[in-house]
Amino acid sequence: MSQQVLARKWRPTTFEQLIGQEHVRKALTHALDSGRLHHAYLFTGTRGVGKTTIARILARCLNCEQGISATPCGECSNCWAISENRFVDLLEVDAASRTKVDDTRELLENVSYAPSQGRYKVYLIDEVHMLTTHSFNALLKTLEEPPEHVVFLLATTDPQKLLPTVLSRCLQFHLRDLSPDLVQSHLEHVLTEEQITYETDSLWHLAKAGRGSVRDAMTLLDQAIAHGQGSVTSASVIEMLGTQGISEIPLLLADIAKGDAIEALKRIEQLSRETPDWMALVSGIQSMLHQVAVTQIDHDAINHLSPSEQKAVRELATQMSPEFLQLAYQFALTGYRDLPMASDARSAFEMLILRMIAFRPARTGEYLSETEANCSTPDTESRPEPEANVSAVTDGLGTASIPPPETSHDLSERKRHEITDPVVEGAVIDLGSESGHQMQDETGEPAITVDARVLADATLVSEEQPEDTANEVTDPPLGLSLSPDAWVYESRLLGLNGMTASLLSQTVLISASANEIILATNPHTHSLINDMHQRRIAEAFALQMGQSVELVVEVRGDLVETPEQNRLRVSQERLALAKKQFTEDPFVSALTEHLDATVRIESIEPRDGGTHV
Ligand SMILES: [Zn+2]
Repeated sequence: MSQQVLARKWRPTTFEQLIGQEHVRKALTHALDSGRLHHAYLFTGTRGVGKTTIARILARCLNCEQGISATPCGECSNCWAISENRFVDLLEVDAASRTKVDDTRELLENVSYAPSQGRYKVYLIDEVHMLTTHSFNALLKTLEEPPEHVVFLLATTDPQKLLPTVLSRCLQFHLRDLSPDLVQSHLEHVLTEEQITYETDSLWHLAKAGRGSVRDAMTLLDQAIAHGQGSVTSASVIEMLGTQGISEIPLLLADIAKGDAIEALKRIEQLSRETPDWMALVSGIQSMLHQVAVTQIDHDAINHLSPSEQKAVRELATQMSPEFLQLAYQFALTGYRDLPMASDARSAFEMLILRMIAFRPARTGEYLSETEANCSTPDTESRPEPEANVSAVTDGLGTASIPPPETSHDLSERKRHEITDPVVEGAVIDLGSESGHQMQDETGEPAITVDARVLADATLVSEEQPEDTANEVTDPPLGLSLSPDAWVYESRLLGLNGMTASLLSQTVLISASANEIILATNPHTHSLINDMHQRRIAEAFALQMGQSVELVVEVRGDLVETPEQNRLRVSQERLALAKKQFTEDPFVSALTEHLDATVRIESIEPRDGGTHV
């Protein structure tokens, strides 16, 4: 199969077949149907978005033997002649290749003669900005006093280079870049019609690679068919585009969300065998983090993603906190900027991923992880005083972070610790200042209390519970005091998880009476709490209290410490302590002395920086 076959075959010949560009289609259809024609049109936009295609459709509309309309018949000899590029009254010039003044003069010489075949002589000048000033002047002269039977269709990717005198004589239309969704569905349509087998994800890769140009995407599609020997698969498209590793991005982000540095390193090791474009991967990570953040606010807002990517993004949205997403996105941005400066792109990529894992708040990614939830609850649950909390944490750490040396399981646990630990200490400081800053912002803001009240009836409707509520409220611990002081601990015991739990952790309990619960939160979190979250929270309360309650969520600027802020603060203190204990503990030194060095020393090494035991 020769290249360009489909690209040419599927070039739109009517406004109906045109992909996107709704605004241009409407304006031109209206002008044609109401007979309000202009003598010069200028189409601007990047390459491959349909400028010359529209110009050709317009040439048909003007010259169809059935009369001027937005729906040329496509059957008459003029319509056919235009499709087959042999219509004598359509004069096409690619100014990019014909910039000599003579050519333009030659072209315009015949402008005063009546059309020989059609109703209008149509001059289609592509990349009109490439004409020399002399050619421009020749064109201008004609544009000043155009004969009745002439229509100029000018197209350019760079309208800034056009003289104002040309611009002022043309009716201008700007064509937009096409979204990957539009291009993807066009490719899908073409392949279905052509009865060529394909994998949906592969079409997304092609659509994105086309960067808004349907022509480029179609050309790539032709190549992909040739490359895949008659079918279009993701693997062959990825290979053809040189975008190896792109499908690993969701998995890598899942590792980050879980804080699984070991798995992430393994994945990067595998990736490196495919010699991927590391820059492209960082850029892919960046774009997916953005999608995850958007999805947390609006579950249905994901655009331009393949079905499998959508699934991954939705999952990640429940695993990463909004704050962490912001931080990770920032890392990706600077990572992208710094990558070319690194001596070794792979190492730089690895460092970027480890940095994200290191700065990941200890538990944010684990709303759903039972193990961790169980681990940390006993520490905090029984000790409401912050001071007492720290000592509780100390106890907890003694057992949690310095495991007995006997079993191999503990070895891997320790290894994990050692890889992430040193950077985490940095994270503690930074996150601390971040949340402190946030607090200040909040207190600085005028409290929008009363107006922003949102009310929700806590009606217990068990049959219409969304999927993940099913296990959310299975086994609620009873007998909570529901006093504002205990909120930091009790908020976790309401049996909520996912986004709802994350949002709840950013509230404070103002009051709880027999039939009304009042929570308060900062304006940002308030804007994220939707009806569904509110209903789930109200249901959890209702289950606690054995009766339905009204839940009010207020906006306040002057919050006391929320469970999330408490968690961050406590985890900072824990990590600082862990670090201290770890380095000072004689047991650790004993461990390192008595064990066979190889595995451990290697894993300890990257953390060192001179401060380690
Ligand atoms: Zn016709």
